[in-house]
Amino acid sequence: MALLDIRIFPDPILRVRCESYSEFDGALQQLLDDMADTMYHAEGIGLAAPQVGVVHRVAVIDVSKSRDERINLVNPKIVWSAGVTPSEEGCLSIPGYRDSIKRAQEIVLEAQNECGKEFELRASGLLSVCIQHELDHLDGVLFVDRLSRVKRELFRRWIKKQASSNRSEDLPLAEED
Ligand code: ZN
Repeated sequence: MALLDIRIFPDPILRVRCESYSEFDGALQQLLDDMADTMYHAEGIGLAAPQVGVVHRVAVIDVSKSRDERINLVNPKIVWSAGVTPSEEGCLSIPGYRDSIKRAQEIVLEAQNECGKEFELRASGLLSVCIQHELDHLDGVLFVDRLSRVKRELFRRWIKKQASSNRSEDLPLAEED
């Protein structure tokens, strides 16, 4: 089992728009396995490659209670979506923060698996919002970017408070924008 370091906000790598993956080789399999180990260890339901410092369009997801229904996503894209649903979210890259945003209720996803085989997946509920969260990561988007203006201000204050209470050299103040 190999655990990868999870990049924490505001690490700039979380803002990179990731490149497609075209080499379906052992290195990809290893990356997916290491990402899955890291996700399960952190008790997350999804993990995207930039969260472990890899800027490729790769993610792993498992929303099952039994933790044995892993889905590997390579070059995923949402080709259809419908409805709106509130979604209470957190992120392994923003530990300790949760808030509610809006997501599409139902989606159809096209992606490739670890061998390059294309597949289509129709999803609703938790799986749908988890996929949307991970795909955002591949475009450098975080769930806090989707907060309302008021909630975003609360998040900014929360981050500042974390930084000052930790007094840690490697946790700079929240970015300005
Ligand atoms: Zn996340």
